[in-house]
This record gives sequence, structure tokens and C-alpha cells, in this order.
Amino acid sequence: MGNTFAIKDRAPVTRRQPRERCIYCDSSRYREKDTRNLGDEHIIAEGLGGTLVLEQAACEACERGINSFEQSILKTVLYAPRIHLGIRRKRRKRGQETIKVQGNVAGKEISVTLPVKNIPVLLFLLILGPPGILVGRPSDIADTRGAWFKQLSSGSPIPIGFESFSSPILDTFKFCQFLAKIAHGYAVDVLGDEFTPTLLELIRTEATTARYDLVGGLSGTGEPSENLHELELNWETNNGINYAVVTIRLFASLGAPTYLVVAGTAKPANFP
Ligand SMILES: [Zn+2]
Repeated sequence: MGNTFAIKDRAPVTRRQPRERCIYCDSSRYREKDTRNLGDEHIIAEGLGGTLVLEQAACEACERGINSFEQSILKTVLYAPRIHLGIRRKRRKRGQETIKVQGNVAGKEISVTLPVKNIPVLLFLLILGPPGILVGRPSDIADTRGAWFKQLSSGSPIPIGFESFSSPILDTFKFCQFLAKIAHGYAVDVLGDEFTPTLLELIRTEATTARYDLVGGLSGTGEPSENLHELELNWETNNGINYAVVTIRLFASLGAPTYLVVAGTAKPANFP
């Protein structure tokens, strides 16, 4: 059982009918004193090849808050992989994209801007245990099980001339927000208003710490699939509470880790 959505590389966009309410704050206006329609919301960012769009589903203030973490993730840890895999907006000529890298050259720490095509491209993601709320783990304890990485470019893992090399760091708090935003959007797509959301505080950046009670994953890595990304929603029960759990598999085609995010609880009368 469950609801699934697979995103194929370069697939056409799937648009859902206008919601006319912000899915994050419930506002019906894009901004105050303005009759402009609410913004369309990509469940997985367009910059990551996302193809599922909720029309008229975000106000300006929520869009801004989301951009602050989403763009940060897309422009740091996921930047070189997106360019390498050809997942990006066509702003620049292919092959011209650059990235700032740091490393040690001839005994000196340097920071230089290099074309992405000239650096080794690594995709680096966290492996997480299950969301704490599903297994009774306290909310302030993280169950991080290490890192998953894959070198996407061929050749040396260090650029020519460098003795050591560092790629952008992963901001784990922003990455949790990034996953939470995807999970909430997908839960809204599948369930509409028929659930009580749990991720809004984290998405609206009111939370100050990563919520590993709500954001977790499967400890193993699955086999690579034919899809670029995969989404699925299932109900899970713990302590008599029914949780809507969104499975997020980014870069499924590369065999990247699977994330489980608790998007909400069932409204008692509506639980199937
Ligand atoms: Zn809003």
C-alpha cells in the first residue's frame, strides 16, 4: 500500500490544480494588499530536476524562508553533482559552471574558483536511522549512521596539482529542512487537508535544531533504480498514533540513501 511518485530525468512537469492556500501558513494571499496569485510550489526543487508542482500553493514570505535553506543546499553540497548530472536551469553554457574549492597546493592552503568539469565530483549524503518518533527515541538524540558518498566523475578524487582538496560541507540542519519541505509538500499532494502537519515549525525556520525525531532514514542503501528521484507515502503506527511517513529517495538512480520523514498525524475521524 502507499502512494508513490517517480521522477524520471527530464520528464515533463506534472501540475496539480490550484490550492489557493499557502501549504505552509494557510494564507490565501501571495502578499498583503496584493491580489497576485500564490506562487507555484515544486515539491522537489526545480533545480534538482523536480517535476511535481502544486499550483498556487505558497505565499511570498514562506517562499523566502524556503529559498534560504533550499538554495543553500542546491548551491553547496548538491551543486557540482547537479552540474555533472546535467540537472540544472539553462542559465549558462554547459561546461562553463564554476565552483569555489579549497585545497592544499605546494604546501599552501588556497581557495580558488575552478570549472566544475575540472574538479572531481562527489555526491555526499547522510545515512540516518529511523525518525525518533517512530521508535520512541528522545527528540534531542540523533541517530546518524555515517555518510554515503559516490564519486561521479572518473579519474583522480583530487584535482591535478592539489595535495588535498575539500568540497562544500553539508549543513545538516538545512538538509533536514530541505527534506522536511519535500515531505510536507508530498503529504499535501497525497492527503490534501486530511492530516495534521508536524513539519511546519522546521520548514518555517522557527525550529533551531534539526528534528531527528521527525527526519530519519533507512540504514541500508537500496539498489539503484531507473528513476532520478522517488517519493512514497505510507501510514505507520507507534504508541497508538498513526503517522504519515514520506519516503524520499533522491538520486535513486545512483543508489543514494533513503530518507523517512514524518509529515503528520492522522485526523482521528479520517483515518482509513
Ligand atoms: Zn505562507
